[in-house]
Amino acid sequence: MLQPVRASDSKTTRISWEKTMASTIGFIGLGNMGGPMAINLVKAGHRVLGFDLSETALAVLEEAGGERAAGIDALAAAADMIVTMLPAGKHVRQIYMGEGGILENAKPGTLLIDSSTIDVDSARAVSEAAADKGMKMVDAPVSGGVAGAAAGSLTFMVGGPDEAFAAARPFLDIMGKTIVHAGGPGTGQAAKICNNMILGISMIGVSEAFVLAEKLGLDAQKLFDISSTASGQCWSLTSYCPVPGPLPSSPANRDYQPGFAAAMMLKDLKLAQEAANSSGAATPLGAEAAALYALFCNTGGEQQDFSGIVKFLRGTS
Ligand code: NAD
Repeated sequence: MLQPVRASDSKTTRISWEKTMASTIGFIGLGNMGGPMAINLVKAGHRVLGFDLSETALAVLEEAGGERAAGIDALAAAADMIVTMLPAGKHVRQIYMGEGGILENAKPGTLLIDSSTIDVDSARAVSEAAADKGMKMVDAPVSGGVAGAAAGSLTFMVGGPDEAFAAARPFLDIMGKTIVHAGGPGTGQAAKICNNMILGISMIGVSEAFVLAEKLGLDAQKLFDISSTASGQCWSLTSYCPVPGPLPSSPANRDYQPGFAAAMMLKDLKLAQEAANSSGAATPLGAEAAALYALFCNTGGEQQDFSGIVKFLRGTS
């Protein structure tokens, strides 16, 4: 059907007529990320039916103009499209494939978008089960954090058939700014964990260099000035420098308040290791990064920004 789609507050100048297949959207998992994403869909003019275990999360959605569903079964039966934003693969498997879940109750042809960050095997299993029921599904994990969710500026990495991607695109455009079709089912999750494995490894590499420079009497600002224009240049150095001083915007200047918490980085590095093990890929540095972040988290770093690993490497965390 044709209906007006009004973009979120940050994009109020863009009011467009978009062709959408859904007018009633079910949203399950209204937490730090899912809550603001669902509210952006409400602001865009859609009817949003929410479900969460948290009473507070449901109340926030209602306050913003959404509705609460009586349960997952009722939500699935009423929705033309369903978005899920849940903690881990086991929740996603249960909510889609479990008794009384989405696949048991949704209409054939329902569009399904899972934006949780989960393991590739679970994403592919759920997508296959959805296809067997005649439903279109994409895995669409995000980067951009809570601020990006609120601003509607998330990056979506999307895996799934062309037809499902095309159907999901207008809705992802409301919640995000950059939408990339990575390939078939599971490749959205693959893109997310490969990228974050690069990030975890490179943050440790940059942090080790600053710790070594300190021992050698080389000033941190000098190392930054030189390496940011030399072959050591990378995002962890020039956009997220792990020591205070060279880059005022980095969490190092705010006592490592996240940002992106070390616990989240550890989750993604563990997912990368699971995927490496099940696919037979050699990722020795990814394994080492996962082990170091586990140690950092177990010694009090869990809720600090992931760049705080520099303190652990220096022996001061
Ligand atoms: P969160 O814990 O704030 O939200 C998860 C929500 O799911 C909670 O409200 C919880 O009550 C709900 N939930 C759990 N089990 C449920 C069930 N059985 N039925 C209904 N609701 C249920 O987590 P979050 O920070 O919003 O993250 C969600 C996902 O997004 C995770 O996979 C995370 O890795 C990913 N992610 C988070 C960030 C971030 O910065 N927070 C960034 C990128 C990706």
